[in-house]
Amino acid sequence: MADLWKTCTVAPNVLIRNVRLVLPASQKSQGAHPSTPVDLRIKDGKIAEIGSNLTLTGQEIEKDMNGAYVSPGWMDMHIHLREPGFEHKETIETGTRSAAFGGFTAVACMPNTNPASHSRDVIEFIRSRAEAYPVHVYPIGAVTRDRKGVALTEMADMKEGGAVAFSDDGDPVFDSNVMRIALEYSSMLGMPIINHEEDLSLSRPGHMHEGAVSTALGLEGTPSIAEEIMIARDILLAEMTGGHVHVAHISTRRGVELVREAKARGIRVTTEVCPHHFDLTDEEVRKRHFDTNVKMHPPLRTQDDVEAMIEGLKDGAIDALCTDHAPHSQEEKEVEFIYAPNGVIGLDTAWSRCVECLLDPGHLSLETILDKWIVAPRQILSIPVPTLELGSKADLTFFNTDEEWLYTKACVHSKSHNSPYLDQKMKGRAVGIYSKGSFVDNPLS
Ligand SMILES: [Zn+2]
Repeated sequence: MADLWKTCTVAPNVLIRNVRLVLPASQKSQGAHPSTPVDLRIKDGKIAEIGSNLTLTGQEIEKDMNGAYVSPGWMDMHIHLREPGFEHKETIETGTRSAAFGGFTAVACMPNTNPASHSRDVIEFIRSRAEAYPVHVYPIGAVTRDRKGVALTEMADMKEGGAVAFSDDGDPVFDSNVMRIALEYSSMLGMPIINHEEDLSLSRPGHMHEGAVSTALGLEGTPSIAEEIMIARDILLAEMTGGHVHVAHISTRRGVELVREAKARGIRVTTEVCPHHFDLTDEEVRKRHFDTNVKMHPPLRTQDDVEAMIEGLKDGAIDALCTDHAPHSQEEKEVEFIYAPNGVIGLDTAWSRCVECLLDPGHLSLETILDKWIVAPRQILSIPVPTLELGSKADLTFFNTDEEWLYTKACVHSKSHNSPYLDQKMKGRAVGIYSKGSFVDNPLS
């Protein structure tokens, strides 16, 4: 772990100087914090003291954070770690490193590995591999055997092994009866089914969003309705079974409206959105001359959809933020657009996209954005939410909202480089985390 983690220090006792405390919106009742920078003492991995000019004791290391914010640790509930099976794209080590440097102290990883994370063995393998690294890894188990959409997995067994949800992500649970039974079982276990919402009979062989741009470029498109029909079906199945559907990586206006309406009717549906879907549109495919780093599923959609994502984040129709971090090697992405695999990495740039697209234009407050990275994902997955309360386990993210930086290949901590943001100017950066008793510094490389 040496070189990859050279800025990681195992440090149960740390005196962190010069930080501004900020709580996510729903933790506001836990007390007001001073807006001026303070010191924060971590003793035996727990938050022991918060105050001005705290005295350094013999057993502590000292870190000056230069006025950065500190919040409870962020969680990305939708990433692809690729191990086991696709270690040429990412490993648990490189993926957690990318998460740590993006400001995340926890991630949930999708089961489209090889073998698929469809059994307790694979869930336990991922958890044990992740133990050494300073990021909590929560595996998501497959809904069906080999993610083939036919035979249900041993859900209860996977829950025992540490799975936090079920999903066939990468592919939808396409068969409605399989989805119905999966919702019935998972609701008995108190866990959500996270569905990649795609009606394959409508979407294939789509290479981008179906609309004016795909027509102009002569590319076959994936229409919005391929996503919306599956969301509508899953809402009806959730209503019928009483199960909890979590709509993965939502991207269309009508999709958000369906979730909003369902919530108003008391149906157990939640959803998440990725930064690229509230930032970029299908015009990027034209502007960037078929750059495969703007190819993902769901595809980049229209400006109207981008606005609907922001409205959904504002009024709570969209619960959580996530990246859908999906590493692919250079060889896999450096092919013609129609042959390239779907997906982009996103852990490095998630925070700066939130600053530039949500915070700076005044769409969402800092506290509301943090809620969607800290509280919502963990509530959806029934994971304890970290706090800044004295005596609680220190699980912290340090970040700023004003630092300007250039996102170059040298800043990429993932094993793969398939980002739509390479060589672009960014604003706002995660500067470190404290997690699992270790401090990880994120100097700008
Ligand atoms: Zn997906």
